[in-house]
Amino acid sequence: MGLFAQDLIQKSDVSDILDQVLHGKKLVLNDCIRLLKSDNPYALGIIGNILRDKLFGKVATFVNNIILNYTNVCITFCKFCAFYRAPGDSEGYTLSVDNIVKRVATAKDHFGISQVLMQGGHNPDLKIEYYEEAFKTIKEKCPDVAIHGLSASEIDTISKVERSSTREILSRLKKAGLDSLPGAGAEILDDDVKSKISPLKIKSNEWLNIMKQAHELGIKSSATMMYGTGEDYEQRARHLFKIAELQEKTHGFMSFIPWSLEPNNTQMQAEGMIKYPSGGLELLKMIAISRIVFSGLIDHLQSSWLTNGIGMAQLALTYGADDFGGTLIGEEVVSATGARSTELTADKIITAIKQIGFLPHERNNFYETIRVH
Ligand code: SF4
Repeated sequence: MGLFAQDLIQKSDVSDILDQVLHGKKLVLNDCIRLLKSDNPYALGIIGNILRDKLFGKVATFVNNIILNYTNVCITFCKFCAFYRAPGDSEGYTLSVDNIVKRVATAKDHFGISQVLMQGGHNPDLKIEYYEEAFKTIKEKCPDVAIHGLSASEIDTISKVERSSTREILSRLKKAGLDSLPGAGAEILDDDVKSKISPLKIKSNEWLNIMKQAHELGIKSSATMMYGTGEDYEQRARHLFKIAELQEKTHGFMSFIPWSLEPNNTQMQAEGMIKYPSGGLELLKMIAISRIVFSGLIDHLQSSWLTNGIGMAQLALTYGADDFGGTLIGEEVVSATGARSTELTADKIITAIKQIGFLPHERNNFYETIRVH
């Protein structure tokens, strides 16, 4: 570490904590709250970058994937969501199994994808056979495309439709070809926050419990945080610690992805609950703090280009993130807010990674390098 960096850390309001982190000491909740309150993201970023560099050097990964938002019909009406349509709405859609498989096969042929990220609304008309058939047929036609699909709250919805347990649903879906679960639906793992922004969605413990069940069944997952919902720093810190605590038990989280709420076109914006997104500096702070909190627990940390743009994602790689995320061809949820930064192709991501002097490695669903660019 250079003299300038040392000076910046020593003069920061959290120098004692950063010093402990550098000596491998585990944070307590109060330390995390102080980091979140700190007004010195640069000092946090220096530490985040050191921890990232120790694990990955100059390698930055990405996955060539599509997002398949199979339905926008939803009965959960989250106030931060601009994507859903109520049952019966003329703008509601549900893709047929044929259409799903065709999209995956076409993306495989045209873009060489290795992952389909499949997420949608909580559509009460969809029985488990819909998902099983889709997964089985994808695996028949494109065996080397991994299915990273269905958030914990979608699993919960299927279990209610089927009047079955979430464990049984996970087990059947795994048999049908589900490879891993995305971390969506966590938002902020605090029930006061949830009752304000998504009162009809599963509560914090239910999210954690479904993740635990998935991990016990050998289904790996991601974890996420959607910050900037009006939560306070203690609620944010507790979210990180709840995920860390589960990870200590199951080791099932492959990655962590913090992203900020995009309020455009949402009920939260209409009700004046939130006026604008948190912005770039907050993203960098969250990336650095996530790297610090999950040090030794969750290795992979995604930069969030989807809501923050490619430039911010590049910076995030220098604050502690090691993974650029996916190409996300076909994404519709963030697009519904009008905030999607751009269409990305593998070539654009490779260029963005090279521009900052990092080495682009294309990875598979399980963060294993499959191609060096
Ligand atoms: S975030 Fe998901 S569960 Fe909530 S309203 Fe949107 S589609 Fe439905």
